[in-house]
Amino acid sequence: MNLVERDLQVIWHPYTQMKTAQPPIPIVRGEGACLYAEDGTKYIDAISSWWVNIHGHAHPYIAKKVAEQLLQLEHAIFAGFTHSGAVELAERLLAILPANQAKAFYSDNGSTAIEVAIKMCLQYWHNKGEQRTKIIAFKNAYHGDTFGAMSVSGRSAFTAAFDSLLFEVEFIDLPNADNIESLKSQISNLKSQISSFIFEPLVQGSAGMIMYEARYLDELMAHCRAEGVLLIDDEVFTGFGRTGKAFACNHVQTQPDIMCFSKGLTGGTMAFGLTTCTQQIYDAFLSDDKMKTLFHGHSYTANPVACAAALASLDLFLEPSTQQNINRIATRHTTFADKVKGHRSLRSTRQTGTILALEWETGNNTSYFSGLRDKLYNYFLDKGVILRPLGNIIYILPPYCITDTELDYIYATIGQALDEL
Ligand SMILES: *Cc1c(COP(=O)(O)O)cnc(C)c1O
Repeated sequence: MNLVERDLQVIWHPYTQMKTAQPPIPIVRGEGACLYAEDGTKYIDAISSWWVNIHGHAHPYIAKKVAEQLLQLEHAIFAGFTHSGAVELAERLLAILPANQAKAFYSDNGSTAIEVAIKMCLQYWHNKGEQRTKIIAFKNAYHGDTFGAMSVSGRSAFTAAFDSLLFEVEFIDLPNADNIESLKSQISNLKSQISSFIFEPLVQGSAGMIMYEARYLDELMAHCRAEGVLLIDDEVFTGFGRTGKAFACNHVQTQPDIMCFSKGLTGGTMAFGLTTCTQQIYDAFLSDDKMKTLFHGHSYTANPVACAAALASLDLFLEPSTQQNINRIATRHTTFADKVKGHRSLRSTRQTGTILALEWETGNNTSYFSGLRDKLYNYFLDKGVILRPLGNIIYILPPYCITDTELDYIYATIGQALDEL
């Protein structure tokens, strides 16, 4: 049996209808912005392997640091013990996060980083003896696939089987010039019950790269702050340069109380999650009363190998050439978007930093499950480009090391698709 046949015998893939899915493509190697298949086919990874990769695949510097760490210390229990990687990573990240971020809590992935944030907020009020148990989130939000993270995410086809079990959340519209005042009064009316407001800053990734303006987010955040509502900034996707600045919250003035990171945290090398918070939140758990402890942890909390990967990725991220690459991608995206704007096959284009989204004209069939999505996906795959449309929306968010030649090829392929599909 070849690898694909063996895979189909034993594997259940994520977000995949196994009955109708095409067989998976076996990948044997990665380098730069490309993945190489068993049969030698080269694919440009235009979506950074589900948005995680920022410095390119199998980066030799990260690989070396991870290999060294593996021979030194692979893992140690993180309750009652510590190690230099966890401390150094927290020190170095807190130094570049908004000034109010004071403590780092590690976990395993984006969803767990969100679970920790939600529990910190709910227990913050619990420890203070206040009945604030409601959470505000944006409509169509996506914060992960575990139950808490699903609860604060929009209800959709993906959550339908679980909807009755998800806790109640106050969903509000994305802010704009017209609705900002009514959103603020909506929050004020509920404030004594609200623990926190969780949001994807500037870009709702999974919803289809839906973008909204920083100034209205800032206004909402400032209003929540004034009303005592804690702010959870989900930077799992937007963190580490995606929006053009290091973190999406660098586009606003108001500082969040809690921040969540994963995806780009290790440069896309391995699973890791991080939740940071203010001193004020941390202090609400300090007590002689053991019941005020944050009772949360994972077996692999602060895994030293993941810390080493994150530290190596941070070294690369802070090199001036990385910011230059981010700016280069953003500029080239803009040029391409200007070129295709108004094409009869396009409904709209939108961009934030290194993220460019193109919304295909569909008539009126816009569902994720529509035929267009599969047609687009296969069209690009056949041409050696990995683009994974969200319904009728295709988006490019490449590793920052992608070359101009590779970008040109992606743009040209999209141009062809616009003419042909
Ligand atoms: C991907 C994502 C998550 C969940 O992260 P996982 O590591 O996939 O669990 C949470 N929030 C946002 C904004 C994301 O894009």
